[in-house]
Amino acid sequence: MRLFPALVLLFPAAAVAQDATVAARRALDVASGKLIENVVVRIEKGVIASVGPRRPGESVTHDLGDVTLLPGLIDSHTHLVGGEEETPYDKLRETAARAAIEGVANARKTLAAGFTTVRDLGGSDFADVALRDAIAAGRVPGPRMFVATKSLSATGGHGDRNDIPFDIVVQRYSAIADGADEIRRKVRENVKYGADWIKVLATGGVGSAGTDPRNADYTEDELRAAVEAAAAKGRDVAAHAHGTEGIVRAARAGVRSIEHASMLDDAAIAVLKEKGTFVVSNPQTNAYMLERGAAGGYQDYQLRKSRELYELKKESLRKAVRAGVPVAYGTDAGVQPHGINGKQLAMYVEAGMTPLDALRSATLVAARLLRQEKRLGRLEPGCVGDVIAVAGNPLEDVRAVESPVFVMKDGVAFKH
Ligand SMILES: [Zn+2]
Repeated sequence: MRLFPALVLLFPAAAVAQDATVAARRALDVASGKLIENVVVRIEKGVIASVGPRRPGESVTHDLGDVTLLPGLIDSHTHLVGGEEETPYDKLRETAARAAIEGVANARKTLAAGFTTVRDLGGSDFADVALRDAIAAGRVPGPRMFVATKSLSATGGHGDRNDIPFDIVVQRYSAIADGADEIRRKVRENVKYGADWIKVLATGGVGSAGTDPRNADYTEDELRAAVEAAAAKGRDVAAHAHGTEGIVRAARAGVRSIEHASMLDDAAIAVLKEKGTFVVSNPQTNAYMLERGAAGGYQDYQLRKSRELYELKKESLRKAVRAGVPVAYGTDAGVQPHGINGKQLAMYVEAGMTPLDALRSATLVAARLLRQEKRLGRLEPGCVGDVIAVAGNPLEDVRAVESPVFVMKDGVAFKH
């Protein structure tokens, strides 16, 4: 794992919503794609008050010099709670308390990587709710979290433990629910215990034993029941879906985003476009798993499925980009380690995005997915005071964003 030994990590206890001014040679306006020269971002009580040229003699709290300022980045698909590089057996042995403690460390790494907001799509035992609230209260440093708590899975689906005997019941990770009634109940339970989002596992997956990513595990009616029950509570639904049939069913049912979207064909793309569904594609996960292999704790069946999906997922992302489907940046960090969240930006560029569009996927588009576009993803008055700085010009080389030199959230400098 990457360490940051030479950095000064600042985190004043319970410091939330501060006044600050950040000066730099350049800032990128992600909406227009224009670079603003000799700029100051002025933050009052954690919110951006103005962005403009430095006034003669203006003193600032953070004078960063020859760097490019960007809005804090958004990862639309993380799993902050739980340890890294764990085998399925390690996961079974991991208590909720341990998972939460690991989550504190993972949140810190994610923030240091410049990701000041995450949509956290599935965590065990509602530890994600506790972590979200501790971060929001200023108790521990980390990104602002929107959490999905327990993923809804069909019996035998991606969220079920299919590698243990029938008389050992594990209900830690997922809400096992079959049929519209059970699904509605689990949605309501998740919301009761703190869910901001609902995650449904519409197809098999890579990490689970005994599932096939091509299989659609929920019917369209079941998915629609999840969407309607979530909507009744003002929540949106994210659907994990690799195979084409599961993608189409979920989009037709009205989910807001398709996670992974590994097997898109033209007909599926047409449904996504018609419904305005977002795609969150994470080829970095497959690349990391295949590079790390068994040493990363991955099982043979996981590596086999990851290999089978890798090229399909990259090709599907290419198709989605070409067709103009909104693609929000999301990494599935937690399957691979945390803190390398920015490395996938280059893969989005390889899939046909410009560097600017890749940055938009992690700012404007992800903010829109979260329905937070009025306060996240831009360096503009009224938005939260989340500012990162990178060396060089990310429009020329998006890899500049992989290791930010400065990270501020709500006007509080975390990494300098
Ligand atoms: Zn995931």
